[in-house]
Amino acid sequence: MKTITILVPAYNEEEVLEQMYSVLVSVCNQLTNYKFEFLFVNDGSKDRTLEIVKQLKERDARVEYVDLSRNFGKEIAMSAGFDYASGDGLIIMDADLQHPPEVIEEMIYWWEQGYDDVYAIRRKREGESKLKKLTSKTYYKLLQKVSKEEIIPDAGDFRLLDKKCIEALSQLREHARYTKGMYNWIGFKKKEISYDADPRAGGETKWKFSALLTLAINGVTSYSTLPLKVWSIVGVIISLLGFIYLFVEIMRTIFMGNSVAGYPSLIAGILFLGGIQLISLGVIGEYLGRVFVETKDRPLYFVQETSEEKKQREKREV
Ligand code: UDP
Ligand code: MG
Repeated sequence: MKTITILVPAYNEEEVLEQMYSVLVSVCNQLTNYKFEFLFVNDGSKDRTLEIVKQLKERDARVEYVDLSRNFGKEIAMSAGFDYASGDGLIIMDADLQHPPEVIEEMIYWWEQGYDDVYAIRRKREGESKLKKLTSKTYYKLLQKVSKEEIIPDAGDFRLLDKKCIEALSQLREHARYTKGMYNWIGFKKKEISYDADPRAGGETKWKFSALLTLAINGVTSYSTLPLKVWSIVGVIISLLGFIYLFVEIMRTIFMGNSVAGYPSLIAGILFLGGIQLISLGVIGEYLGRVFVETKDRPLYFVQETSEEKKQREKREV
């Protein structure tokens, strides 16, 4: 019998976790041909999330958990999940029931047909502001333009991954993670299905604007060096324009005599170039910062405790 791990990264999800678990279990119990493991990664929650997971474990031996030492963010919480998952397949799901567990059956169907990565596309996005939808749409368009990797918009982390994919993903240890790009980078046979995203079942979104912005920048800088290259082109164009302007000025001085006028255009030129230099320095800094973080080669996360350890400790005590 094949085992499927359901990976749920959870950060301050006390309000929805129990509800999510019961919906999940009612769906999984119908799929009698598979063994399930419910792996919760507690991403340094400050509320009762871990307590609730432990209670679930008392009731249901299929529940496992990894408790991270602090909040590392969803991308890293997921990679911790990849490291601890023991299933032949793994399904990533949000804790807030925005990913309907009913889709699991369809995912498994395609997995059995030989697909390694069955990802679900959002048909509509309930309960998200117009602004968020618009920024997300423009962002993916832009990302697609600058990146060589194909990144599918609206395909989130809700997907079934074969063990092969999990092993591949757990070898990618970069800190500035953009998992959505990694799924495509690793390759393997992919299958697209679709679902309707529901609004959050309770609690609030855990993404702050700043975190989303960081993720967005990670997306571009992890998969494209175009922002670095574009400045050489801008530089060439500007120097060319400068050269033409210089030529015009020389001709004018020769034929019409010298004049001191042109102070505003001088300042404009200086400010314009100064601005461009600062922007390009900033872009180089972004990449350099990433190099700096990666060269430290720190572990991605630390673990406070896992259900496995607890099991072994209890065994020893008995
Ligand atoms: N999450 C996490 N760590 C974080 C932020 C979020 O593990 O630092 C989890 C969260 O508990 C949820 C999932 O990531 O299970 C998606 O988060 P959320 O629903 O807040 O994001 P949204 O759906 O609004 O994009
Ligand atoms: Mg959500």
